[in-house]
Amino acid sequence: MWELEPGLYAFVVALRMALPEQLSRVSVRKLAGTTKRFWEAGWDPLSVAESCHDVYVQDGKRFPTCRPGQPARWLGWVLKRVDVATTPALRRYDAWAAAADTEPCPHGEPGGARLSVITGRAKCPLCRAAAP
Ligand SMILES: [Zn+2]
Repeated sequence: MWELEPGLYAFVVALRMALPEQLSRVSVRKLAGTTKRFWEAGWDPLSVAESCHDVYVQDGKRFPTCRPGQPARWLGWVLKRVDVATTPALRRYDAWAAAADTEPCPHGEPGGARLSVITGRAKCPLCRAAAP
């Protein structure tokens, strides 16, 4: 039986509290495997939780508000889509810049033409399609 590092334990507990509807009562040990790489990369638990939401937003879907059938597997599935190299600070900057940019693109979407500093892509699909 491997021991969890105290820092990782606290990280997972905080992440569980950040996603209470999805992860409450799931053992820390079960969640540690899929979240360890974020902890090692210096992410804070709230940013991990926000990134889970973002995955759904990117797909145009609603974030589940009830407990998944297999919470640990669900978290692993969602986090597979999150790039650990994208630091939380960069994500926050990108979100802030996107919210601050209200200039409509040629297609009328506020901030649609702004390029994400993370993906290098515009928010508006029509602007993206028009990009070289
Ligand atoms: Zn556009």
